Amino acid sequence: MTDQPTPMMAQYLAIRDANPGALLFYRMGDFYEMFFDDAVQAAAALDIALTKRGTHEGQPIPMCGVPVHAAESYLLTLIRKGFRVAIAEQMEDPAEAKKRGSKSVVARDVVRLVTPGTLTEESLLEARRHNYLAAFAQIRDDGALAWVDISTGAFQVMECPLPRLAPELARLAPREVLTCVAGLDDLIADAGAALTDLHTGAFDSGAGARRLCALYGVETLDGFGSFTRAELAAMGAIVDYLEMTQKGKLPLLRPPVRERMGGTMQIDAATRRNLELTQALSGGRDGSLLAAIDRTVTAPGARLLERRISAPSRDLGLIHARQDAVAALVDDPRLMSDLRAALSRVPDMDRALSRLALDRGGPRDLAAIRAGLTQGAAIAERLPRDAPEVLRVAAADLLGHDDLIDLLDDALVAEPPLLARDGGFVAEGHDDDLDQTRRLRDEGRGVIAGMQAEYAALAGIGSLKIKHNNVLGYFIETTATHAERMLAMPDRFIHRQTTANQIRFTTVELSELETRILNARDRALEIERGVFDRLRTAILDRAPQIGQAARALAEIDLAAAFADIASGEGWVRPRVDDSRAFVIEGGRHPVVEHALKRKADSFVANDCHLTDGETPAIWLLTGPNMAGKSTFLRQNALIAVLAQAGAFVPARAAHVGLVSQLFSRVGAADDLARGRSTFMVEMVETAAILNQADDRALVILDEIGRGTSTWDGLSIAWAVMEHLHAANRCRALFATHYHEMTALTAKLDGVENATVAVREWEGEVIFLHEVRKGAADRSYGVQVARLAGLPTAVVDRARAVLDALESGERQGGARPAALIDDLPLFRAVPPAPAPAKASALDARLKAVHPDTLSPREALELVYELKSLS
Ligand code: ADP
Repeated sequence: MTDQPTPMMAQYLAIRDANPGALLFYRMGDFYEMFFDDAVQAAAALDIALTKRGTHEGQPIPMCGVPVHAAESYLLTLIRKGFRVAIAEQMEDPAEAKKRGSKSVVARDVVRLVTPGTLTEESLLEARRHNYLAAFAQIRDDGALAWVDISTGAFQVMECPLPRLAPELARLAPREVLTCVAGLDDLIADAGAALTDLHTGAFDSGAGARRLCALYGVETLDGFGSFTRAELAAMGAIVDYLEMTQKGKLPLLRPPVRERMGGTMQIDAATRRNLELTQALSGGRDGSLLAAIDRTVTAPGARLLERRISAPSRDLGLIHARQDAVAALVDDPRLMSDLRAALSRVPDMDRALSRLALDRGGPRDLAAIRAGLTQGAAIAERLPRDAPEVLRVAAADLLGHDDLIDLLDDALVAEPPLLARDGGFVAEGHDDDLDQTRRLRDEGRGVIAGMQAEYAALAGIGSLKIKHNNVLGYFIETTATHAERMLAMPDRFIHRQTTANQIRFTTVELSELETRILNARDRALEIERGVFDRLRTAILDRAPQIGQAARALAEIDLAAAFADIASGEGWVRPRVDDSRAFVIEGGRHPVVEHALKRKADSFVANDCHLTDGETPAIWLLTGPNMAGKSTFLRQNALIAVLAQAGAFVPARAAHVGLVSQLFSRVGAADDLARGRSTFMVEMVETAAILNQADDRALVILDEIGRGTSTWDGLSIAWAVMEHLHAANRCRALFATHYHEMTALTAKLDGVENATVAVREWEGEVIFLHEVRKGAADRSYGVQVARLAGLPTAVVDRARAVLDALESGERQGGARPAALIDDLPLFRAVPPAPAPAKASALDARLKAVHPDTLSPREALELVYELKSLS
């Protein structure tokens, strides 16, 4: 027989079925409970106890729960582990439900679906990173990608043919991607995002356009730009998804900004990984370019830095304007440090604003807006009138908020509490009604003190107290021994409760006073709530301007941060222009230099003079392992990134002609996770470059061809080089250990040899880390192997083989196999027997137990050992 579910369970099942694909957090009093399979999964994911509650269809129901006050940290764990969570709250006071009858269940409903891309809570977000939700749409051959950060309201869209999807996702690193296009699972997983499959209806471009019009209250979207159908579909899907997950409460979305495809330097996923732009190979931020250069003092500034580094501009005007701002601050260190001091007091207005818009904000979010605008005004005043354009525009956006600042200043206490619920955030003097009510409440408390004295005198009990608890409210308390006198006055003292040691009373006056105090307290809270709503509305009315001010502050923060690192580390303003020059004098690798500095080592600066004219140029870099080839290659790529991000660069001088695409590949990086052979990965990646690089690209190839046999590798490297030179005609740096390739310089115009110098000294190599024109004479692999601790016998043998091979080559290029046939076989040399004296010493030492020796015995031992040696 199957038993009917209880009314509560029936409600639970209905809500769960209406929200498929999500764990259901079902609010019961102070807990969110989970049942059935949800409970099993959540208990395992959260490492919490799994219990049982009642039965369903004859089976016990698994259950687990998390306390509401600690729910955020559990939510974070679940989201990180790839779950989505539907939060069902109680929609009425349980008392209301009781009134309807004893069987009646408290009304509950899902108020929000928490997914990786839709977080807004401070504790769930990384302050210094964006949290993007993206949507990819495809209509016939047109693709489009839209993305939004609901915690800041940024909303963008771009045309995105399918082949561009992976690089764009690598740039944005969204947490969640919506799509209805099949077969993108791997691609989206590779980008580290959660995939959310939506039905095709969500991507209808007509419905999308209507949704957007409704969202912005406009008749047509023409005012925002003209969008393709795929773009409308992608944006529409985002709005639809937000409506669904936020249950109708839409976040504050700024009007969509259309990003031009050619507007930024294109950097694909492999290049980003290789260059460790925003993430180190080890996975974290530490060790990345971003971490090494981040001197911003505000979270929005840090997010802007990440955006700029991820997508350096290709707009000369913009780059120059940003450089001007940095230069002005480098030239005026006082101004720079004043600005940075003021900025360090600027809170994250973007995120506060977004929480307020979603009605998840509290008094501290109001205070954040106040502090941000106040500091903003001070910063604007501090900026000189003749400041460069970027700073002047920012200053203009920071002014004009005085009314709102005054209102917030007047209304809020200095340090408001986190939650509006308990009140106490509205300042005295802001609202007469509130002040009066609070006085009444506080006076009531004073009157109670008076009453206590009066009752103590009346009953003749000095120790009588008036106390308060949540069950009884106010009551008079005395010990059982004294209570007789009060019990004798039943018309004054009304008995309430007897505990083990105390007897509690009340009086008519006390209850009346209590009601007055309670009423005053409730009324005060109600007034504060009203004030909160008014302030929230006043802020939201000006949301676009506040958002603008927040962006202005981030822009100033970034300019000041670039200026700070430029002056601190001796960086220079690069000349960026329309040419195809690439001339770096005294360039350094910011991350490696940083790491060396910690070890008190110094970095050797190096020039890279690829070309200063129109002819494309390629440097072929040879030199032993560990000499610094990869470092040199990467530092030049990073300098290009920094230059177009508007920053100064770690060099003595730099001239960079706009780079359209940046490619960086390293030979033979294992990619076992994707089950492709190392060599296959290398070739796929190289193919991508040869097929895509245009004549403005900058290509960096590190040991391409390393993943296969020598002759194969050399032939491939050779052909790749020729293709880059003749077909792609781009600027390139090519590191190789195939010395044979250095011969190419004689054949190809514009290809030059360079080498990282080493010195050989008594059979050892010393790395000078100096890049010079010319080819390396040999690779010193054997010496490096020795440095790495290969057994001496192996190193000696390797040297013999090498000598034979080299002399064979000199004598007319005999095949290595033939040479190897001539070499005597390797014989493991047994370790030479130790001299007898040493073994006597050894034996004596082995017999010693230091712990048992007295100081005197130790001294004698030293003499004895000395005699043995
Ligand atoms: P390669 O690619 O030639 O094998 P790397 O570029 O990996 O060599 O450099 C090896 C190490 O040498 C780096 O980890 C760094 O510590 C050091 N190094 C590289 N370039 C420099 C430099 N210009 N100045 C000082 N140390 C350097």
